[in-house]
Amino acid sequence: MSDSPKDSTGTSPASAGPSDSGVGTDFIRSIINEDIRTESLQGAVHTRFPPEPNGYLHIGHAKSIILNFGIAQEYRGLCNLRFDDTNPVKEDTEFVESIMEDIRWLGFDWEDRLYFASDYFEQLYQWAEWLISHDKAYVDELSAEEIRLYRGTPTEPGRNSPWRDRPRDESLDMFRRMRKGEFPDGHCIVRARIDMAHPNINMRDPALYRIRHVHHHRTGDAWCIYPTYDFAHGQSDALEGITHSICTLEFENHRPLYDWLLENLPVPHRPRQIEFARLNLTWTVMSKRKLLRLVQEGFVDGWDDPRMPTICGLRRRGYTPRAIKDFCARIGVSKTNSTVDLALLEFSLREDLNARAPRYMGVVDPVKLVITNWPQGKIDSFDAPTSPDDPQGGTRQIPFSGELYVEREDYMDDPPRKWFRLGPGREVRLKFAYYVTCQEVLYDETGSLVEIRCTYDPESRGGDTPDGRKVKGTIHWVSAAQAVPAEIRLYETLFDRENPEEEEDFTQALNPRSLQVRQGFVEPALASLAPGESVQFLRMGYFCRDIRDGQGERPVFNRSVTLKDAWARIIRNQRENE
Ligand code: ATP
Ligand code: MG
Repeated sequence: MSDSPKDSTGTSPASAGPSDSGVGTDFIRSIINEDIRTESLQGAVHTRFPPEPNGYLHIGHAKSIILNFGIAQEYRGLCNLRFDDTNPVKEDTEFVESIMEDIRWLGFDWEDRLYFASDYFEQLYQWAEWLISHDKAYVDELSAEEIRLYRGTPTEPGRNSPWRDRPRDESLDMFRRMRKGEFPDGHCIVRARIDMAHPNINMRDPALYRIRHVHHHRTGDAWCIYPTYDFAHGQSDALEGITHSICTLEFENHRPLYDWLLENLPVPHRPRQIEFARLNLTWTVMSKRKLLRLVQEGFVDGWDDPRMPTICGLRRRGYTPRAIKDFCARIGVSKTNSTVDLALLEFSLREDLNARAPRYMGVVDPVKLVITNWPQGKIDSFDAPTSPDDPQGGTRQIPFSGELYVEREDYMDDPPRKWFRLGPGREVRLKFAYYVTCQEVLYDETGSLVEIRCTYDPESRGGDTPDGRKVKGTIHWVSAAQAVPAEIRLYETLFDRENPEEEEDFTQALNPRSLQVRQGFVEPALASLAPGESVQFLRMGYFCRDIRDGQGERPVFNRSVTLKDAWARIIRNQRENE
């Protein structure tokens, strides 16, 4: 069998393109298609996802993971996982573990291709020596401050360092002594010898190696010099045979350096860097540094707090890989930076949950409803479908009695004409059960509603009456004696401003209402719901049983997302205008 990309049987890896899988093309896939067409690609497409293990992954990383692993799948190529662990100060194995878990959860597999940039430290060191030996790099002893002054500005060229033309043997000797640990941090650096007048500042003799006497989470104390990101990244790509090195736009003006290093080193392979716009979301901060601060300073309850945009936070909130992939497919990839509306992410979640979450009843903010004409001690029961749209879907039994809990916000003392819920003298349908008419309400001494007293129509069982009268409103309920007490956590956005990144201190923009805890009740069938499972509470939204808290008696439910509820929006707007 031929290895040629033109093989008409379509079995050679590079011949499989998005056209086979029906995937739309974006500018990255167009580049790859062109590389395949012009035969500049020798084998299969090979990408990599290169996280720095200095924090947990967030939804922006998910975009990059889905792009890199997705392209590999579509083109029947490969995608590596490579930890970019060149900065030992901030890195940790906790992050390595969490990153692997999150990628697996998203449904991707790097198989046996797990790499660490630190595995290449010896090779990178040898290549730095190679550059020095070929007069393409030198050891500079200017201080950091002097280097900054010599660098110039975007409009003025820089100046050559006095060390730039020192003999190569002297540089080589200095570099070896750097490695041996003879100098303190900051004493000198290795710089590429390119062009101090280059219009691109990244090309003005960029740093390749720095002295850092710090412990590395993988190499321990073997090294006290570490390569810069720029010196490590492209060479790692080359060592792994990466064909398309996809990164975010901020690296666009590093590309000349990426290419320069590959051209000037005896690398085994020539990868190509392609940049795309990073994902930004409204109402959210996305930088790992800021997320770390939220965790360290206790603004949230850990990396997996359901308000966090981290992958583990989204998972705990009730997001599925499907919802996240659907979102990423909707936003696509482009070359222009933009900010995506958080509502779009919630839309993808709602779509996913609408299709698969079974329907139950749960009362989030309960108030007692007593049926005064209910036969003492009688318990009725209703067989209700959990998937109303699916004729094959299952059912569960819901007990009904004369003492129920209903939603506090379903009662109003002096409701407007179009209020189809409870109010003095108003009749509503209790979902699946009976019609009830509000006769009286009781308040406690603080003026808060404690009980709604109703009469029911025994003829209305199942929601119909012989006289055919229509009742417009239907509300949810649970039977008090059989209900399961549950802690219900309601979320708003973590920030109360659309662009928290714009604040001088983004923690000033935290939303004090982002978490609200309610002690509610859910129907008995939900006591055995597995942690991580999602359901819809009729009218109240989609809820996911928490995977951490409430594993004993009282389950904890996180609201993943609300339903589209016109009244909730009106009430919220009123509150905001008050
Ligand atoms: P942060 O700015 O959050 O610290 P980073 O770029 O430093 O992120 P890395 O661990 O280096 O984080 O990222 C790994 C990969 O994920 C890189 O290829 C990076 O370009 C990509 N990535 C990071 N943030 C985003 C984002 N918001 N949208 C798309 N891709 C992203
Ligand atoms: Mg980075």
